[in-house]
Amino acid sequence: MKFLNIKMMAFLIAVTITAIGSAQDTDLPNVKILATGGTIAGSASSATSGSYAAGQVGIQTMINAVPGIEKLADVSGEQVANVGSQDMTIEIWLKLANRINELLASDDVDGIVVTHGTDTQEETAYFLSLVVKSDKPVVTTGSMRSSTSISAEGPLNLYNAVAIASNPEARGKGVMVSLNDQIHAARDVSKMNTTNVNSFQSPIKGMLGGVFYGRLGFFRTPNTKFGNTSKFSIMGVEALPRVDIIYAYADMSPDLIDMHVKAGAKGIVIAGVGNGNMTDAILNAAKKAYEDHGVIVVRSTRVATGWVLRDNEFKDDDYHTIVSNDLNPAKSRILLMLSLLKERSLFEIQDVFYNY
Ligand code: GLU
Repeated sequence: MKFLNIKMMAFLIAVTITAIGSAQDTDLPNVKILATGGTIAGSASSATSGSYAAGQVGIQTMINAVPGIEKLADVSGEQVANVGSQDMTIEIWLKLANRINELLASDDVDGIVVTHGTDTQEETAYFLSLVVKSDKPVVTTGSMRSSTSISAEGPLNLYNAVAIASNPEARGKGVMVSLNDQIHAARDVSKMNTTNVNSFQSPIKGMLGGVFYGRLGFFRTPNTKFGNTSKFSIMGVEALPRVDIIYAYADMSPDLIDMHVKAGAKGIVIAGVGNGNMTDAILNAAKKAYEDHGVIVVRSTRVATGWVLRDNEFKDDDYHTIVSNDLNPAKSRILLMLSLLKERSLFEIQDVFYNY
């Protein structure tokens, strides 16, 4: 009996030590990884082939491939979708944003990482930055090389993303995009190269910060509205108004605007030439689309960097057009879709484009 008691005591001591051990674990920040697919979850039949299928590998396999991740944070994963990001949808955006809002409202979650294909990562990140209502860090990441590729960079990108999401310094910076040791603001970043690991850049404002094997620093804070300062909310929203993008070029056909209006677009973004320009015929069609159908036309640019300025070569008021400021066409579409969730004047929409 005495012997049994000693054994029992030893057992109890062991349980206590384990409990202390797990109490230390719970002192680590809690980071949730929400997986959506992409090349980071892609696999190929050959390690030296650039062709592969995106969105093949599940979240737990991805986490297991990152040595040391368990020392950064208590990490757990959830599969929200598993698609190549060319197949990202507004429905997935809404599901993802609602889930992030729900998770971040809990004291048990300190930060979020979203794994995502690189093709539309900047769009998802920008959308999230406008509708996630929290100061806690949200970091999107991905990779240019598939998980089975030689020198796959996905595991290090994921390691760094978890390090950022766990770091109190990353609070209040909005949604961030991190690949290749860099931290970018969702609003400012673009995919600039189709294949290179250094594809993500913020051509106008530059990086937000840097990260090196989990050690990180910030150089600036985004100066537009996002998160808690954003007036946009997706509470109760099940769909967004249709906004299309038209790419401008020399001698483009003037019937393009009508085609989009007939298809049901409530807004149109022109990826204009130069400083948001388009042919005279398109400009007049844009004016008519607003006057006859209330369709809002935003002038962005097909040029990779620079502002689109109001009243530059003509008076925007004469054509009821809005300028995108320095927001690229894909992100202008997102901002316009959210702006159109409620009735807003042209003046108010222009103000949104100057401030978000
Ligand atoms: N098209 C794929 C995607 O965006 C591949 C791009 C990538 O993730 O690098 O998911």
